[in-house]
Amino acid sequence: MADLPFRVLPRVTANNQHFWRGGEHGRLQFLRCVPCRTWIHPPSPVCPSCYRKELEVAAVSGLATVLTYTLNHQPWVPAPDHPYAIAIVELDEQPGLRLMTNIANCSADRVAIGMRVRVVFEAREDVWIPLFEPQAPEGRAQRGEAERSPSGGA
Ligand SMILES: [Zn+2]
Repeated sequence: MADLPFRVLPRVTANNQHFWRGGEHGRLQFLRCVPCRTWIHPPSPVCPSCYRKELEVAAVSGLATVLTYTLNHQPWVPAPDHPYAIAIVELDEQPGLRLMTNIANCSADRVAIGMRVRVVFEAREDVWIPLFEPQAPEGRAQRGEAERSPSGGA
């Protein structure tokens, strides 16, 4: 793990530790409103949908779609992985349940809007940062290999 890029780590509090530490057990967790089942992110003491305060911590599937992204080419800090994708992904569980994240295990030129991704966690000190990787294995797009067109002919 020596080549991990520099990251500013979040400050973990009682209100957000379900999110930053759920990855220790492979879970991407959010607050969820018990009465109306709305997923809530970022954490809030009140449901933004029904304004009630009866919230629980629950895990999502970790499956998501890339809504938009940008490629960072600027080496703000010394790191081996430029360019890298900064993306906004939307979780399958609910329209609007979105995270700003990085796309991992994927070359930057392969990242695309609409790409299906799933969560993976990067452990750093006492937090597990949710990143997303492609659901489809790399190298699937290889079938365009120039089929030789029959030249000449009768
Ligand atoms: Zn609610």
